[in-house]
Amino acid sequence: MSAYPPILNNLIRRLSRLPGLGEKSAARIAMYLLKAQGDEIEALSENIRQLRDGIRTCGTCFHFTDAQVCPLCADPVRKTGELCIVESTSDLLAIEQSGAFRGRYHVLQGVLAPLDGIGPDQLRIKELFARIGSEGISEIIIATNPSSEGEATAHYLLQLLKNHPVRVTRIAYGIPMGGDLKYTDRITLERALKGRQIF
Ligand SMILES: [Zn+2]
Repeated sequence: MSAYPPILNNLIRRLSRLPGLGEKSAARIAMYLLKAQGDEIEALSENIRQLRDGIRTCGTCFHFTDAQVCPLCADPVRKTGELCIVESTSDLLAIEQSGAFRGRYHVLQGVLAPLDGIGPDQLRIKELFARIGSEGISEIIIATNPSSEGEATAHYLLQLLKNHPVRVTRIAYGIPMGGDLKYTDRITLERALKGRQIF
């Protein structure tokens, strides 16, 4: 039996389903909300409601946006010839925050995972090929994660792209900054060596 009243207990249970939150953090947030001052609870509920009603995916790159076309696709300064393929919006944001890429993106909205019923038709692959034809893309950078699904998706795309007049590149694997060679796994080391560059 929980020591919390049912209303509080329900909130804690619901919050603990959120990614990255365990029961303890959920309980801490619930207690904070219980003591929240002014209209903080109403403002939070309104933000969540707006999220559901006001956020959609960009019709071009499938990044989240509140407009028909996202700010990245609408930005005239960004290069149009380079297209970076990512699994998710969070991966897009990570690359964007690095400031290392100034081209355009395409969010697949997942990776191939046949066991979970996710095949090519569940991803934004058809839309990707439509863009290659219409946007004058000269380079496709495949930035799916180095997981088995991310790799399988990258290879699948590579096969499909073979007959297209575009340069296909894959983001490099390597040793993380602050890493240590002796603690690095064999596959990462092997790929870091294969992907070596002139110094
Ligand atoms: Zn977009």
